[in-house]
Amino acid sequence: MIDLRSDTVTRPTAGMRAAIAAAEVGDEQRGEDPTVNRLLERVCALLGKQAALFLPGGTMCNHIAIAAHTRPGAAILAHRDAHILRAESAGAVMLAQVQTEALDGDRGRFTAEQVRRAATAGSRYEPATRLLCVEQTHNFAGGAVWPLGELAEVCAAAHERGLAVHMDGARLLNAVAATGVPAHEFAAHVDSVWICFTKGLGAPIGAVLAGSERFVSESRRLKHICGGALRQAGIAAAGCLYALDHHVQRLADDHVLARRFAEGLQKMEPVRLHTPQPDSNMVFFELNGWTHSAFLDRLATRQILLGPVGDRLRAVTHLDVTADDIDRALQAIEDILTGRGDGFRRRSRPTR
Ligand SMILES: *Cc1c(COP(=O)(O)O)cnc(C)c1O
Repeated sequence: MIDLRSDTVTRPTAGMRAAIAAAEVGDEQRGEDPTVNRLLERVCALLGKQAALFLPGGTMCNHIAIAAHTRPGAAILAHRDAHILRAESAGAVMLAQVQTEALDGDRGRFTAEQVRRAATAGSRYEPATRLLCVEQTHNFAGGAVWPLGELAEVCAAAHERGLAVHMDGARLLNAVAATGVPAHEFAAHVDSVWICFTKGLGAPIGAVLAGSERFVSESRRLKHICGGALRQAGIAAAGCLYALDHHVQRLADDHVLARRFAEGLQKMEPVRLHTPQPDSNMVFFELNGWTHSAFLDRLATRQILLGPVGDRLRAVTHLDVTADDIDRALQAIEDILTGRGDGFRRRSRPTR
């Protein structure tokens, strides 16, 4: 099976499993798990932050960070297509009890001027804006990278207006691989940031949220409230440490394969590419004249999986995908689109 649905589908490698099996562990809730503590030190150094917290996953990092930066009744700003607004079941609204306000803009980005206009000090009528959320890389915008300069400008505008800035850095290390800018340089512009270990890094469980001592101390309290305080979590943290040692440099390979996939698709007539030159490891596209489910079913019979994301199709490259897999997937797509190979014909009329 060639599984391009997401970079979350990777399985731990033999080396990672060995590291997990050998992990020294303790009670994480008491701060006594040595492997978790080592991971937190590593991530603090990587991101240039004072303190950090181990959490089971990224969604919990976002919920906790939003709650830690705000009070109930506050407003937060995020891009309209942000994971926080599109894929977390309104968790920020439920848990932090904030009003979410969406900013428009291409490629998951918006301008400093938009931030200045949207941020309000608050009044009897209007909620005070307390937080700006940015996403690096931006998932639903096609794995798009915020260039450092633009990111610095929007963060400065937010700070100028008294907002905190939180970075959903699920794939921050993909942005690092794409640009060569060190993670701490991106992170320097935000008050809190987290990275995910279960996406391109290939670990089974874990994310780390980082920020100031004060922010992390409040986040630890919220983590406890969420039931996110763990016990012998070194089992999971060992996989994350292994990923930092072995799976960071290779993220660039995923980007090369995403570009190879996009280039192959570009030549196929019914394909409308949203990401002709992907910044990182994702390719978004649509097919003229096809219902996506019919296409995906066909593809699955060829042992290839892609995901529908909203009204588009998405392919994500990762640790378990090779150049040969990409070429096989392209061949299968071409066969299906041209009605070759399996007796299947293209629909005669477009469906949308
Ligand atoms: C996957 C993802 C998350 C959520 O992380 P989980 O570990 O799946 O909870 C948040 N933001 C972005 C941009 C993501 O891609």
